[in-house]
This record gives sequence, structure tokens and C-alpha cells, in this order.
Amino acid sequence: METPALSGLALIGRGRGRPGGAVFRGVNPATGEALEPAFHTSHPDEVARAAELAAAAAPRMAALSGGDKSAFLLDLARRLEADAPGLAARAQLETALPEARCLGEIGRTVGQLRLFADLVRQGHWVDARIELAQPDRKPLPKPDHRSMCRALGPVAVFCASNFPFAYSVAGGDTASALAAGCPVVVVAHPAHPGTAERVGSHVADAARAAGLPEGAFSMLVGDGRVVGQALVRHPAIRAVGFTGSRAGGRALMDLAAARPEPIPVHAEMSSVNPVVFLDGALTERGEALVAGLLASCTLGVGQFCTQPGLLLMERTPAARAFVARLADAFRAAPEGVMLHAGIARAYRDGLSARLATKGVGLLARGAGSGRPNRAEPALLEVSAADFLAEPSLRHEIFGPCSTVVWCDGAAGLRAALGGVEGSLTGTLHATDAELAANADLVDTLSRLAGRVVLNGFPTGVEVSSAIVHGGPYPSLSDGRSTSVGANAIYRFTRLVCYQNFPDAALPPELRAANPLGIRRLVGGDPA
Ligand code: NAP
Repeated sequence: METPALSGLALIGRGRGRPGGAVFRGVNPATGEALEPAFHTSHPDEVARAAELAAAAAPRMAALSGGDKSAFLLDLARRLEADAPGLAARAQLETALPEARCLGEIGRTVGQLRLFADLVRQGHWVDARIELAQPDRKPLPKPDHRSMCRALGPVAVFCASNFPFAYSVAGGDTASALAAGCPVVVVAHPAHPGTAERVGSHVADAARAAGLPEGAFSMLVGDGRVVGQALVRHPAIRAVGFTGSRAGGRALMDLAAARPEPIPVHAEMSSVNPVVFLDGALTERGEALVAGLLASCTLGVGQFCTQPGLLLMERTPAARAFVARLADAFRAAPEGVMLHAGIARAYRDGLSARLATKGVGLLARGAGSGRPNRAEPALLEVSAADFLAEPSLRHEIFGPCSTVVWCDGAAGLRAALGGVEGSLTGTLHATDAELAANADLVDTLSRLAGRVVLNGFPTGVEVSSAIVHGGPYPSLSDGRSTSVGANAIYRFTRLVCYQNFPDAALPPELRAANPLGIRRLVGGDPA
């Protein structure tokens, strides 16, 4: 396969953006070195052209068969896999993530594309439902109703800084939107523009090879507040996918709601991922828990949406011994390079502000070199009373920092959980007997989070048909959905019901003979 050279230009349909806008470069966060080439911010008319091309492509994209979408997604997966070494090399330069992590993330991205390829090839996902007509029903005849999920239209996707592949140009939002039959306009993250262009070129090539309409995919370059907001305001855009800060996601939610025609924003933002430790588990396997928890808190320099930020436990001798060992482990943990200067600054500022908050103490901090963009792990503590009294303690600090919340008795633990914000995950460490005796804690965690983990750690998200990567606000803008896994496709669809249509005029999914052989409900029963 030919390796695409980086141009520094946006990808607008089948063409490129033009130079002349503000220029910026990717930066190696480990060295501060500015990387070639310069990237040219998309012009306002290019933003509009990408959105208009997407609108023009939308009807054809929505009408694509599952087989055609599947073949396109599989071809894209093959292209990314074949270019994995080159993609990983560029991402390493732009993010300081190690090669193994980059290659692993490319594997996950390829796996995601294949998951959606299977999903749309099988076709069951459309949730087809048929209610047959009863013309003789009294007092009124019953009409023939047939419903299914249809593509929503052009989707704007904002890339994440912390996943240059799996949540970026060809990541979960893009894959699920394309699988649904929606054109996609991506806003590349300015922290890894070269990686974005290289992946974007593969998407554009695969779209061309599959014969998709020109506007099926575009990628814009530049500042989210200018380029990204202009895209979200464009009337052709029907939905937004976003992964990043709470401030950014919230700004886009508000912007989308203020449009003359509001649109949904599926934003994954901020998650503290509470972990509850019960005494029996700490007594039974405290040593293993220290190692596992340290790894989970500091993995990838803590730059994971599922990083365990709050550790809740009763103030018991077993818990004190466990926390003392955990503090030793944090103290000995090495610093790491963060993804970009803004994230490193936010971590330092967030940590300083938290340490200055009433009732918060520092239990341990790894040794820091003071070099730019480095972050050292930190373990903090606070009483449940102080935690509940200060709302800022409920917010995520993005990085390798976790806070122990000391609770007085079982009632104190439950009260503290009442102050925890909506999260992607909630974890419980308990013995079998404790699990049986504390069913209410599982219930509480399931109200707080989209994924409840038992005796494990929340980092490491398996992409599957059953995974839920979502939860109440602020972890997700809409806690009913998931941003990872097969069910992520429903974010970019809407239900359409066809009433009293002749068979030949219906989509194949709803025809009497069921020519695609998909699972359907007829009169409420599987058929
Ligand atoms: P970010 O600042 O939210 O940026 C993500 C993307 O959204 C970028 O393309 C950005 O463009 C754009 N954007 C940000 N604010 C915007 C706004 N008001 N209007 C339109 N577009 C906007 O996130 P980040 O750069 O990845 O990291 C910054 C912080 O986000 C971190 O320190 C962390 O707190 C949080 N974060 C959380 C998670 C999580 O999973 N929980 C993941 C990543 C980051 P510009 O850069 O051009 O503004």
C-alpha cells in the first residue's frame, strides 16, 4: 500500500482544503519539538462545503445496503491494519504514547470497524417491528404499521486527544455513524493533526474505492471554537459526537440546543469512576488490590476516561493498612509525559486547587522532574463530610490522581456515594458474603454508572456488543446511550414508521417475505 504523504490540508469530499488560513503544527510533548508539516486551518467556506457535500450524500448513504456498508468498513479496517507501523510512528511523535499502546489502539480501532461491519451485514440491528393491519377491527380499522431505525443524516465528529485512533478520525463515533448510513465530517484534534490526516486519507480512499458518494467523509482542520462551532451551527449537520472536556462538551450541547433547529450532541466528557472497597475484600486480598489499583490509576499517565478518581471505604484498620500500602506504591511510581501542554497544565492546576481545598490532604506524590508536560501520580484523602460539603471535589482531575474518601460506617459510605456524579463506571470490591449482604450498593452504583465492575478495575474497555460506555451526566450528555460497542449505532439513527404501504414500496427490512432474513417482531412476537 502506498504511504500517503502529509499535506497539512483538510480533506473535503474527494478534494483537499486550501492553504491560507491560520497555520499550526503538531508538537512532540516529550521534547517540545514542533513537527512538520504545518497544518492549515479550514476556511469558513470549506466548513460549509464539507457540510453541504455531506447533506447531498445523505440520501444515498442512508440507502446503502448492509452488505455495501460492511464491505466498506472491512476495507477501511484492512487499510489501517496494513499501515499500522506508520500510523503508530506518527502518533508516537504527536502524543508521546508508547509504540505498544499505539499499535494496541489501532488494533482496537480495526476491531471496532469489524464489529460494525458484522452488525450491518447481519442487519438485525434495525429493530424492525411489524403490526399487521386489521381492516375489520371495530370500532376502527387498525392500520398496517412497520417501523425500523433509519440514518439520521450528516454527523459532526470531534476527535479525542487521549485516543488518537479509537476515539478519533476512524474511531467509534465515525464507525458507528457510517455504519448507520450517516455521512461524517470530522474535526481533527489539534494535538495530533498528522495522525488525523494519515487516518483520514485511508477513510477517504476506502470511501472512493467503495463508490460512496463524495460527501460521505470529510475532515476539517483547526480550532474547535472556530471551525468546530461553525460546523455544529451548519443547518446540514444532524448530530454531533464528541469526546473531551466537560467545558467543551457542554459548550457544544448548548450551541446545538440554541440552533434554530436543535440537534442531539453525544458528548463523553468527565467521569470520576468511584471504586468502593469493603473490608472483607481488603482483608482477603489487600496486596493484590494495591498492585491492581495503582496500575489502573496510573495507566497511560491517568489519561483514561475510566481512570478511578474516587476510592471510597470505611475508616477501618484494614482500610488504613491498605491505604498506607497504596500510598507507598504511589510514592514510588514514576512520572509520565502527558498528551499535550494543555492537559499537563490542567492536571497541575487541578491538583494544586484540590490540595488547597478544605479538608483535602496529600497522602503521596511520586517524584517529579519538573520537566515540561510531565505529571507525577498523586494520592489524596478527604473525609466523607468534607467531600460532601465541597462540590468541586466531585469533579474529575484528568491524570494520575485519585482521592480516598474516608467514610464513617456503612451509613457514611452510602451517604458519600450520594454525592458522586454520574460516571462511566462504578466498581465494588467485596467478598461473596459481602456482595450478598450489600445488594443496595450494587443498585446505587448501577444508578450512578453505565458499567458496574465487580472485583476488578474500570480501565480497559472491551469493545463488544454488550459493553456500555456511558452513564448519567456529566459522563455522557445523554445517559441513555453508549459511545462504545454495537449499541453506539443508535445514537445516529431515528425511528421511522411506514403506515399502510404496499409491500414493494417498503424498505427490504420490512417486506412481508423478509428477504434479508433479519430478526423482527411481528405483532410483538419474534418472527
Ligand atoms: P477538549 O479541550 O475538550 O478538546 C476536544 C476537542 O473539542 C478539540 O478539538 C477542541 O478543539 C474542541 N473543543 C473544546 N472546547 C470547545 C468549544 N468550546 N467549542 C468547540 N470545540 C471545542 O479536550 P482535550 O484537548 O482532549 O483535553 C482537555 C481536557 O479535557 C483534559 O484536561 C481533561 O480534563 C478533559 N478530557 C477528558 C476526557 C475524558 O474521557 N473524561 C478525555 C479527554 C479529555 P480546540 O482544542 O481547538 O479547542
